[in-house]
Amino acid sequence: MTRYLTQSLTASALLAVTLALGGCETNEALGRSQLLLVDDSALEQQAAAAWQQQLATAKISHDPALNKRIQAVGGRITAVSGIPGTWEYVLFDDPQPNAFVIPGNKVGVNTGLFKVVKTDDQLAAVIGHETGHVIAHHAAERASQQIATQTGLEIATGVTKGNVQKAISNYGGLGAQVGLLLPYSRRHESEADRIGVDLMVKAGYRANAAVEVWQNMQALNSGAPSEILSTHPSDKTRISDLQAYIAAKGYK
Ligand SMILES: [Zn+2]
Repeated sequence: MTRYLTQSLTASALLAVTLALGGCETNEALGRSQLLLVDDSALEQQAAAAWQQQLATAKISHDPALNKRIQAVGGRITAVSGIPGTWEYVLFDDPQPNAFVIPGNKVGVNTGLFKVVKTDDQLAAVIGHETGHVIAHHAAERASQQIATQTGLEIATGVTKGNVQKAISNYGGLGAQVGLLLPYSRRHESEADRIGVDLMVKAGYRANAAVEVWQNMQALNSGAPSEILSTHPSDKTRISDLQAYIAAKGYK
């Protein structure tokens, strides 16, 4: 949140926003405070719409073996996640090695992910990571940061506290720009990696499989043109961060 203090929000305006709307809360899973102007429930409607749109526009894969694997591994991870409610796992026929989560416990896994995920332990690392984003309230934090940026800009041009509250109550409009399917920040990725490792170990999977996923990703990218490599400049950092975390926790 330091970023916003140095932006156009004045200290008093920020105080008004945080006092009125909750603001920073300490997330125990992260050991840091988060700017939460909206909570997960505020995202539900938009998330449900985003998920429906994804189901309607993307190609769903009915590959029986892969579907069985994501349901089975997903079930073991969510059983230890402590997040109430039903989780939905859908396999999309998409060659990009990717997976995503949106609020409301909806997890999408691309068939292309299986280019880098060879074992169920590795799959558990990816699903654990996506579940980590939910535990960490990353979607709500990202939306809050976007609202803060937007209202901050308005404050700079002379908008009052009342208008800030109006902007947030009109969140449905702002919500259109939240981008639930956009990539998360590096910080959010690192946090989800660590929570994911904790979850996979709790569920009985090998922690080191998380490292293997990123090694496989590196190997997949090694033969690719340099511009693709440049979109993954931090695989190496990610691997060493994961290795350090696994060692520090004493995981096998
Ligand atoms: Zn992520």
